[in-house]
Amino acid sequence: MAWDIVSTVLNRPAKRPAKRPSSCRSIHGAQYQLFRRSRVRLAIWYTGVMGAILALLGLGVYQAIAHAHEVAIDREIKSVTDTVHDAIEATVSAPDQLNRLSSQLLPDLCLSGNACMGPASGIASGIASDPLHHLQPSYQHDYYIRIVDPAGRLLATGGVRPEGLPLTAPSPPFQTPKDQNGQEYHQVAIALDNTGQAAWAYLMVGRSFQDSDQYLASVRWSLLGGLLLSLGLVMAASWWLSALAMRPIYQSYNQIQQFTADAAHELRTPLAAIQATVESVLRLPRISEEDAQETLTVINRQSQRLTTLVSDLLLLSRLDSEQRPLIKRSCCLQDLIGDIVEEMAAFAISQEITLVVDFQTQTSLVVFGDEEQLYRLVLNLVNNAIIYTPAGGQVTLTLTRHQQHALILIRDTGVGIAPEHQAKIFDRFYRVDAARAGQSGSSGLGLAIAQAIAKAHGGTLTVTSQIGQGSTFAIYLPVSS
Ligand code: ADP
Repeated sequence: MAWDIVSTVLNRPAKRPAKRPSSCRSIHGAQYQLFRRSRVRLAIWYTGVMGAILALLGLGVYQAIAHAHEVAIDREIKSVTDTVHDAIEATVSAPDQLNRLSSQLLPDLCLSGNACMGPASGIASGIASDPLHHLQPSYQHDYYIRIVDPAGRLLATGGVRPEGLPLTAPSPPFQTPKDQNGQEYHQVAIALDNTGQAAWAYLMVGRSFQDSDQYLASVRWSLLGGLLLSLGLVMAASWWLSALAMRPIYQSYNQIQQFTADAAHELRTPLAAIQATVESVLRLPRISEEDAQETLTVINRQSQRLTTLVSDLLLLSRLDSEQRPLIKRSCCLQDLIGDIVEEMAAFAISQEITLVVDFQTQTSLVVFGDEEQLYRLVLNLVNNAIIYTPAGGQVTLTLTRHQQHALILIRDTGVGIAPEHQAKIFDRFYRVDAARAGQSGSSGLGLAIAQAIAKAHGGTLTVTSQIGQGSTFAIYLPVSS
């Protein structure tokens, strides 16, 4: 019989698409590759930006250290030059008196024309009267002293004797000559002019920058090492942070996938029923008036189911995108609940349920919002309470004020909801007993819509329940009066 096919389709237990775990591992193939690529790209960008910032910071620190070091050394050369200059001028006032210095102040001084004793041992090796004696030991052996006459001829040298260091003119006073090995020296030139008139000679004091270069090289290596280490840490942190940043995207992608699969599944059931009904009738050679009537009734019922489903989905998507109701009016909750009780009274009687209303407040509670949506919110919950309460049970609607909120409680003495289901019943298309609910035509969108409406009105919807004892749904809505 053709009707058997129809009833098979209608009574087939609803086989729902399996819920996907929310981790990224549940995404396969091209999508997984896309998410992974995005994560890698995000991590590379994080690392690149952080690396550039760290490199700039390191460069700035290095420049500051190098500059401070150079300034300190130049100041020290200047101070040494002044000391030597004062010492020479106090003893000597003409080039031919320079030989006095060798025995009194600068024993390492080598006068031109004299055979100096071997290579210079450094100013540091001088006696206590040596004006450079106060220098730190590490610097002492770096200094050289040169005295030249105004014509540029070398009169005397002292301290270290850099090989191939050119004899420069005494101007400008700060110079950076290089020796034959390319080693750079900082040099200060100052006139020796005891009489305060024309200079009889020039004093040039300088020192190598070798130890300074070595020090700066070690600073560079330390900074580079620090930068590489930091980059490694930044890379690891970026990888972790990019996973953190991608997580909500994975979750919402999974939710959309699940929602699409559920919606398609829900739409397919009534469509399949209509198709089976039509096909079964088409197979008949003739159709009686009774069969035609029955066919049209099935098609009508399934079309209504489709219409309800589609309008529920549209309402949910509107609530999702707008986040708050478009139409806002003052709604008196006492009136709203009164209307709902009036509408549901017949249904409650048919199910042998006692419907009780308890207004615990004398003043009328007014909520500013979309009356139609608020009506839908309470109606869904009262409808569920009656459906899931066995005959002889009771459904109580309580309205009270709780601080700045109106509190509507829908309490039933029904089957109750197990703790593991309580958090999930607000999910779209979630039904505790999917097979039974599928037969009853319910879609599992009722509580999701109710919660979205409560949220859109700045309120909340919660549930407390005990298996076999009943459930209580609590709606908190901010009151406007
Ligand atoms: P449906 O349209 O299937 O009723 P809902 O979103 O309204 O979908 O409800 C989701 C599930 O929550 C239902 O399948 C039902 O198992 C459970 N539920 C809702 N209200 C109650 C209640 N008052 N008592 C027991 N179970 C309930």
